[in-house]
Amino acid sequence: MQIESGISLKPYNTFGLPAVARTLVRIGGDADVRRVVDHAELGRAAKFILGGGSNIVLTRDMPQVVLKVEVRGMRLVEERADAWIVEAGAGENWHDFVAWTLQQGWPGLENLALIPGTVGAAPVQNIGAYGIELKDRFEALDAVDLVTGRSVTLGAAICAFGYRDSAFKHSLANRSVITRVRLRLPKPWQPVLGYLDIARRMHDTGIAAPTPQQVFEWVGAIRRAKLPDPATIGNAGSFFKNPVVTPEQCRDIIGRDPEIVHYPLPDGSVKLAAGWMIDACGWKGKTVGQAGVYEKQALVLVNRGGAIGSEVMTLARAIQESVYGRFGIRLEPEPVVV
Ligand SMILES: Cc1cc2nc3c(=O)[nH]c(=O)nc-3n(C[C@H](O)[C@H](O)[C@H](O)COP(=O)(O)OP(=O)(O)OC[C@H]3O[C@@H](n4cnc5c(N)ncnc54)[C@H](O)[C@@H]3O)c2cc1C
Repeated sequence: MQIESGISLKPYNTFGLPAVARTLVRIGGDADVRRVVDHAELGRAAKFILGGGSNIVLTRDMPQVVLKVEVRGMRLVEERADAWIVEAGAGENWHDFVAWTLQQGWPGLENLALIPGTVGAAPVQNIGAYGIELKDRFEALDAVDLVTGRSVTLGAAICAFGYRDSAFKHSLANRSVITRVRLRLPKPWQPVLGYLDIARRMHDTGIAAPTPQQVFEWVGAIRRAKLPDPATIGNAGSFFKNPVVTPEQCRDIIGRDPEIVHYPLPDGSVKLAAGWMIDACGWKGKTVGQAGVYEKQALVLVNRGGAIGSEVMTLARAIQESVYGRFGIRLEPEPVVV
């Protein structure tokens, strides 16, 4: 266990926001978490669990002990007749894990390629993209409780996965350090090709039955064209969740705004495109201080250089107010505001 003091978190969050951690501890395994729990001072202090910092907005210096999860390792746990069970340490880079599984010949994660961050944070918001969510491939995870120091294995029911949501954003937030995640990759591989952007690629390339590697490459190319690369423009991906409304609410909004982009969901509810609503309110390209709305995608807030967390949040609140004023819908931020 490595304990460091007065650490700048700017390089540890993809928004590039300034904040200093009074204490930062690097976690290499379950034993390190237990050492923190048993430590006279650290044990009593409030904690914040940090992965790759790609889904957080830092608004201030952090008095909490920051636990930076760096658990490594990737392996095949088991090959079953109907699935491969694969595991990765929570500190592994998510995209590297996706690429590794494909290289080994175990497809199933290709639609989730190029999502920034660590494996350990993937269950926290049940990451999703291009028709797949983490919960669709989830087997179990290992975590250490920050109060008892006990290691536990948790299944999907306890994780309570929802749309960009799980128990790790609520009752288990900063209580359970996820150290390893196991995923189930079903056999035979069934491609998920329903998303418009992927269907377009199939049409343009004339490939009706793509391989997992082709889907992986298409998803990468689509994402690079749409989203700013945090290495050059600080951001945390989609800043707001797409709101889900009842069919009646949707009809009411369509009555006023016939153009609104919306997707019916299997349970009868309707998902509204938050990016479309923000754009309709005229926010694309707008700026507060050094925080701005990305020109190519209104759902993404960006750091135009030297932004601070409070500027990002002032911009976010102004967007929420104008979307509420026009559509009567309260947008909910997707990243964790710290
Ligand atoms: C350009 C860009 C594109 C993105 N695209 C997508 C997308 O398509 N789909 C999507 O779902 N998300 C997307 N995101 C959001 C982000 O990549 C994911 O939420 C990712 O899983 C966050 O991982 P992280 O390691 O950076 O987590 P962090 O930002 O470090 O942490 C996020 C939350 O998880 C908690 N946490 C982190 N690690 C652990 C752990 N080991 N145990 C317990 N709690 C933990 C933290 O306390 C915090 O609450 C995007 C972000 C960016 C910047």
